[in-house]
Amino acid sequence: MSHSAYAESQSINNWIAATDDHADHHLKLAEQVRLLLSNPTALPSDESRQLASKLERWRYQRFNECGHSRNRMDESILDQLDQWANQLRGTKPRSPRHARHAVKASSAANNTNTLLSEWFDRECDLESLTAMATQVTSEHFSIKSADLHSDLDLRRMLLYAPLYVSSHCVNHCRYCGFQFPLKIDRIHLNRDEVLQQSRILRERGFRHQLIVAGDFPRLTSTPYFCDLISMLRQENLELSIEIAAQSTDSYTAMREAGVSGVTLYQETYDESVYEQLHLKGPKASYHWRLEAPDRVAEAGIGRIGLGVLLGLADPVQDVRAMLRHAGYLKDRFPDLKLAFSLPRIRHAPEGYEIPFDIDDELLIRMYCICRLAFPDSELVLSTREPATLRDQLKRICITQMSAGSSTSPGGYSDTTDVGAEAEHSQGEQFPVVDQRPVETIAAGLRDDGFEVRWTFGQPGAALS
Ligand code: SF4
Repeated sequence: MSHSAYAESQSINNWIAATDDHADHHLKLAEQVRLLLSNPTALPSDESRQLASKLERWRYQRFNECGHSRNRMDESILDQLDQWANQLRGTKPRSPRHARHAVKASSAANNTNTLLSEWFDRECDLESLTAMATQVTSEHFSIKSADLHSDLDLRRMLLYAPLYVSSHCVNHCRYCGFQFPLKIDRIHLNRDEVLQQSRILRERGFRHQLIVAGDFPRLTSTPYFCDLISMLRQENLELSIEIAAQSTDSYTAMREAGVSGVTLYQETYDESVYEQLHLKGPKASYHWRLEAPDRVAEAGIGRIGLGVLLGLADPVQDVRAMLRHAGYLKDRFPDLKLAFSLPRIRHAPEGYEIPFDIDDELLIRMYCICRLAFPDSELVLSTREPATLRDQLKRICITQMSAGSSTSPGGYSDTTDVGAEAEHSQGEQFPVVDQRPVETIAAGLRDDGFEVRWTFGQPGAALS
């Protein structure tokens, strides 16, 4: 070991000894790491991968212990643990995860974001903004009509459906219908029930399905999801997941099982509001969630959907932070396919007053700004929004829509009227507003010059 490396190692040890609640245990881990890294040709091994997982957990404990008052030494330990874990996994060298710095308003991570800021202002002409966004969307998402006699370009639109598999959740997200303290009938689907729900969706045309679940570690475990993913891949489906933030190992296992995308909203980037809204449960850790997209990409999954739940905090600041986050991720992973979604919270459980009301104009502005900032990103719109607004936004910039959705596990039925399903289902995460059946939505799209797609066509696309 060089003199400077020795000095650095000593200073890290001293800092751990002085500040860590589990110093003895962590000093032993640090020694194990140095020993394994002293023979890099033997990496990775089962032992080094297990150690990498321990370092990942230690790093997030450290985040939680430091709170908002991280000093320079805390920061360098966070980076060191990240770098060690990466080396132990034997993956190619990379810079440390820095989402925590990139999302800050003071970050210069994304100049585009700064240039577009004026469009948040209602004084700036909305028509010009929507015209630009429409143009950019056409440039990136138009395709030639298969009809040889037609010169018309079609816009492509992916239709997908959420497949809710569990409403059990240990988290206390104050705005959510599945939060732990609520006394609701909880449902957890077994693999046969999931298969039955998935086949109903398949019958309706959906070949891209989004597996959605609450966070209940005993039930919604990595093996549970991997089993569902493998099973549904056998059905020739393209699968994304919208579940709790996972470890790098867990994302790797799900990628190997066949998942091709992860949707994970930060909900709000305002750290203090985040803490007030997520009082208990694993989701209370802001940094664990903030860095989940890094872990997704490092695990080799090629599609990530970012989002904020508009209305929880200042919406303009939240969207700007999300765009900075996206810029940072694109810098780190240039091949990553990004998607953005901007769900508005319109209803919340008793006891939670929604602090910000987002009107249609602001929502349209925000989607247009996302389009201009990331011209080839997917923009996603759910059935939370009413049909008229969905129809307006699809013509401007949306490229991915859910349809005929149910937001409760087991909510699809092959006997009931599709449009009425959501209205009558119990235990929903949130109410579905656009209740048009999928055929109606698909027909409306075709009439408006869209080619309806049911898959991205690249299932399992992985980052190298
Ligand atoms: S938002 Fe997600 S994690 Fe939070 S309570 Fe609802 S289901 Fe659970």
